Amino acid sequence: MIRAFHARFTEVVRMKVAFFSFGACEGCRYRIVNEFAKIATLLEKYGIEIVREPLLGVKTEKNYDVAIIEGAVTSLDVERVKEIRRKAKFLIALGSCAFLGGIATLGYKYGVQADEYLKKGYSLGVPLHQIVKVDGYVRGCPASVDELVNVLEEIAVTGSISKYERRFEYEKQTDLVLDDGFLRLDTGKCIVCGRCIELCSKIYANVLTQAFRGYRVIVTTPAQISFLEAGCIRCGLCAAYCPVAAITYRNDVEAALKTAKNGGRVVIERQAVEAIAKALGIKPGQVIPLLKTLGFSKVEIVNPLSLIDAEKTGIVPYSSAEKRLVEQVFPEASKYLLEYPKLSLDKDTVLVTVCVARKEDHSPVLTVHELVSLARDMLITFKDLPEEQLESKNNDCNVKIAKGPEEVKAAIQDFLSNPRGIVVLQICPGGCAKGSGLHFPILNDY
Ligand code: SF4
Ligand code: SF4
Ligand code: SF4
Repeated sequence: MIRAFHARFTEVVRMKVAFFSFGACEGCRYRIVNEFAKIATLLEKYGIEIVREPLLGVKTEKNYDVAIIEGAVTSLDVERVKEIRRKAKFLIALGSCAFLGGIATLGYKYGVQADEYLKKGYSLGVPLHQIVKVDGYVRGCPASVDELVNVLEEIAVTGSISKYERRFEYEKQTDLVLDDGFLRLDTGKCIVCGRCIELCSKIYANVLTQAFRGYRVIVTTPAQISFLEAGCIRCGLCAAYCPVAAITYRNDVEAALKTAKNGGRVVIERQAVEAIAKALGIKPGQVIPLLKTLGFSKVEIVNPLSLIDAEKTGIVPYSSAEKRLVEQVFPEASKYLLEYPKLSLDKDTVLVTVCVARKEDHSPVLTVHELVSLARDMLITFKDLPEEQLESKNNDCNVKIAKGPEEVKAAIQDFLSNPRGIVVLQICPGGCAKGSGLHFPILNDY
């Protein structure tokens, strides 16, 4: 099989591949490195050599046969991209940024600082094909490693690329905004990576879909109806995983800071303490002093699981998200639904949580993600925070917890066949300890 490549390019002994990155977040290349086992098999099978991939510490390129470019091209990159094109026999656009412009192009519409940048004569970024001829496209944000393997295998076997041509000129549709005060989808920012659609279907809600065809394609709800009409359960996963903040959930940061300034108190979930400590690289005992530094007069740690009555029989949704899920997706189980553990808080209290759906019950609510970003923006020196003794972690109730879509589905089916005891449902992949309000993405696929 290698012979086909060799017959066409007799001057090379091994097919040499080089990765480059321009206006990008580098997510595509990180995904490739994270899933390197898939590539490694291909390299071995066809004797392919990677001669440039800084993430792997490889920078030995003098010559290469295949250049794989991640990211949009800014005016600073044009000459370098042209040089790469001259040297490479095949040039592949990797991921939505290289393919469509992606994150770098958003500044044209949304970047305040972008105006200054443009005045200086720079361009913020254009898709790769607008600067040089592109031979193949690997789509996705981040790009699909399987698709990259297919493209490279085709080059190795046939010495050409046939199947991965650009199918259409993409034209961003900017006129649709769905905003119900809890979730906001702005199609003008969307790069049509499809993550939100996949995640929403993973948790059985199937709210989001693609509409229109070809260059007019957008991500939206069916017939652009409201999120709730489309069956949104308010899990927040779409917002947590959107790489460009085209979907966002209600931001309570300003209201929370106002509450802190007025001497209000903050209640923080035990799981959120651990998550914030991990995100900021501090000890859990430093999280309370951190909240006091932000201005809160009193800090209280709670664990919603401790509110569950383990003596009852039924299905306990962890939040309003799981309640909606059962009612809409598993209606046969609705009659077994018990109340979810709802924290009753007064209006002068801020809740810090891992669970985006808790924003339905209260305001202001800060997710771990919002709190961590706020703390970083305030330039607090985390290592200098004192450490406080935390109360014991073991105030959970002793109940069965189904974590993630597969376990939730199985637990509901088990309960329906034998309605005994109590089962708690947490729909976020991995459960609420890995909820969509966290700072870091939790799914390995993204
Ligand atoms: S396509 Fe997505 S993951 Fe890849 S560089 Fe662009 S924003 Fe990052
Ligand atoms: S919040 Fe959850 S249910 Fe609603 S659209 Fe996003 S992923 Fe789907
Ligand atoms: S809204 Fe975000 S996650 Fe969904 S397709 Fe657009 S860019 Fe991707």
